[in-house]
Amino acid sequence: MQKTEHIGIAVKDLAISIPLFEKLLNSQCYKTELVESEKVNTAFFKIGETKIELLESTDPNGVIAKFIERKGEGLHHIAFDVTDINAEMIRLQNEGFVLLNEEPKQGADNKLVCFLHPKGTNGVLIELCQDKN
Ligand code: ZN
Repeated sequence: MQKTEHIGIAVKDLAISIPLFEKLLNSQCYKTELVESEKVNTAFFKIGETKIELLESTDPNGVIAKFIERKGEGLHHIAFDVTDINAEMIRLQNEGFVLLNEEPKQGADNKLVCFLHPKGTNGVLIELCQDKN
């Protein structure tokens, strides 16, 4: 794995959280994107080499809505950059980690992504992401 690509934060309302993070980071949100398959609206900020991804549910039954219901707003996942997501998925599976999707899927920001079950990673949801070229 390479750098931390981004840190995902679950929020209730992007209209409140985007200006909050703009103030916090002193940096403009550079992109918002709807990821229909995941039922989330996302908003991105660059912070040095990495990014912050805010996630707002578009559906009361979506994963982000459910997460906020259980745990409240806050840190949702950490995403690591990989150059070959398929190879990394096989490697991690062989190491005993549980993948939440068997095939890479389309994520925000033109990435292929795969999530690891947080049960196997000390409670932290991990996302692998590879740039789609
Ligand atoms: Zn993410």
